[in-house]
Amino acid sequence: MSIKEILQREDFSGEDIISLLSCQGEERSLLFNKSAEIKEKYIGRKVWFRGLIEFSNICSKDCLYCGIRKGNKNLKRYNLTDDEILAAAKFAYDNKYGSIALQSGELESYTVTDRIENLLHKIKDLSNGELGITLSVGEREREVYQRWFDAGAHRYLLRIEATNEALYRKIHPGNRKHDFKRRLDCLKSLQDIGYQTGTGVMIGLPFQTIDDLAGDLIFMRDFNIDMCGMGPYIEHADTPLIEYTDEIWPLAERFDMTLKMIAILRIMMKDINIVAATALQAIDPVGREKAIKIGANIIMPNITPGKYRDSYKLYDNKPCTDDSAEDCQSCLEARVSLADTEIIYGEWGDSKHYDRRRNGITA
Ligand code: SAM
Repeated sequence: MSIKEILQREDFSGEDIISLLSCQGEERSLLFNKSAEIKEKYIGRKVWFRGLIEFSNICSKDCLYCGIRKGNKNLKRYNLTDDEILAAAKFAYDNKYGSIALQSGELESYTVTDRIENLLHKIKDLSNGELGITLSVGEREREVYQRWFDAGAHRYLLRIEATNEALYRKIHPGNRKHDFKRRLDCLKSLQDIGYQTGTGVMIGLPFQTIDDLAGDLIFMRDFNIDMCGMGPYIEHADTPLIEYTDEIWPLAERFDMTLKMIAILRIMMKDINIVAATALQAIDPVGREKAIKIGANIIMPNITPGKYRDSYKLYDNKPCTDDSAEDCQSCLEARVSLADTEIIYGEWGDSKHYDRRRNGITA
């Protein structure tokens, strides 16, 4: 079946997705035109900001791809003070960002639970309840997620990283701290509690196949996610997966595959929120703009205080590590307008899919 015919279907099979991920030339343009059309119809030519505060790079996990893994001793560890976090949130509020995202390495302790709960209350207070808050701090017990939800977090981003369990095991150490089923259970708890639930994967990992990527998209549809943050895998010299660099797709191919994944997901899940990942910009200076054109509608300007940014290096060549929050905003404004898109200030920009899902609509 031709790409044109596949694109006319209401729903894609695994084989359809594999064909779409493999298409080139004119057929690739057909895919991107279709996803842009769907975005325009269901979302509009719009993006919303989530001011990203990477508040700590201290992590108890040892994911084999990640630059802030516990085992990386070549990294200066930091933990922002509460005042620094609140100042960054205030910056977002004053600049009408609508929402912030708090992200960090994964630590499971009562102290961290209490701290985040307390910060959530304070951020709600300083913004008259107006700032939307996404959390992305990893796997925790259901009760902890519930406490944070009650304190004001309403979105949670937890990438499943790879939905093929065998692949997941290859890119994580084989121990209880890196358990695929637990990560999945966490996602289920988040959805159950009532968070707008986001997940995603890395694209172009060692050992990953196109079939795996098609499976990832089917997982996202079947799980009925509200938000997606997925991006290219990019090597980090101080991680175990660096030794597979010669075996993986070239960066340009990882980039192209990420755009295709975003485009196909936009067609499959028309009204979810999709992030234009920062990692795209590490490969192509206008990578995020390209993602916005073909389907993404969320961008995460980094508002972490500049002096810490260099230390939240998940992968090599992470962009914007020497900018200030103000630089980030003006640069993004120029960039987003290049994509013929408007930044919507002062709104949460919630996933419309969330409301439909809560009302029992499954597709
Ligand atoms: N610890 C939290 C979690 O796992 O949800 C949040 C922080 S974690 C560093 C954020 C994301 O960074 C991960 O979900 C992973 O997909 C991404 N990441 C880590 N290393 C990466 C790499 N080398 N290339 C691309 N993305 C990477």
